[in-house]
Amino acid sequence: MAIGFETTSPSTAYALLHDPPKNFSVLSCHRLLPPALKALFAMGEVRIDGLIQPGHVATITGIDIFNEFAGPKGVPQVVTGFEPLDLLMGVYMLAKQVKEGRSEVENEYARVVRPEGNPKAREMLARAFKAEDRAWRGFPVLPLSSLEVADELQDHNARLVYEDILKDAPKVKEDMGGCRCGEVLRGIIRSEECPAFGKGCSPKRPMGPCMVSREGSCNISYRYRE
Ligand code: SF4
Repeated sequence: MAIGFETTSPSTAYALLHDPPKNFSVLSCHRLLPPALKALFAMGEVRIDGLIQPGHVATITGIDIFNEFAGPKGVPQVVTGFEPLDLLMGVYMLAKQVKEGRSEVENEYARVVRPEGNPKAREMLARAFKAEDRAWRGFPVLPLSSLEVADELQDHNARLVYEDILKDAPKVKEDMGGCRCGEVLRGIIRSEECPAFGKGCSPKRPMGPCMVSREGSCNISYRYRE
């Protein structure tokens, strides 16, 4: 099962394109970042003052993919790394843009992110995958927001190879017994505002995906709550 954004999908593409053994297949759950950002803006549920853009995604995509969210109708954005000082610097650069009335895409993570990204990785992505519509947790179906194994590589597409098994797999339920991950993901509530946070739901007994993953908002909020 292959998960993640533009950050991780090149590794899957590499495996698919380099003569994998016959019994190697991929269930691709890879997603693309820009369609989700576009949906967030279109839904208009939260007022976004600025965006810290993910440095690991930009390492692959380059920084121009964020331009559509900049300009007079957009918001300030800073591509940022993951060390505490990177984030602090990113927030500083965002605040400076707000103060100066600018809405540009700046790159704090210049020691890793090149403006043009990684063309070789993108070329592999283009050969190994095709973009498809897909529903996201907390969002409707987002057009061309996921990566499916390319037509030429269907022998390695687990959705086809294991079609008989997967047809009985339970569908993802949007209603998860009071879990409010969808709203957390869209920035409408903070994790702590979910009634189950720290009560019925904790990293040891997670009720939803935001608490399962160590990168999930609820999991992080729980671990650093004091
Ligand atoms: S993962 Fe847990 S704390 Fe987070 S929204 Fe779902 S139920 Fe609430």
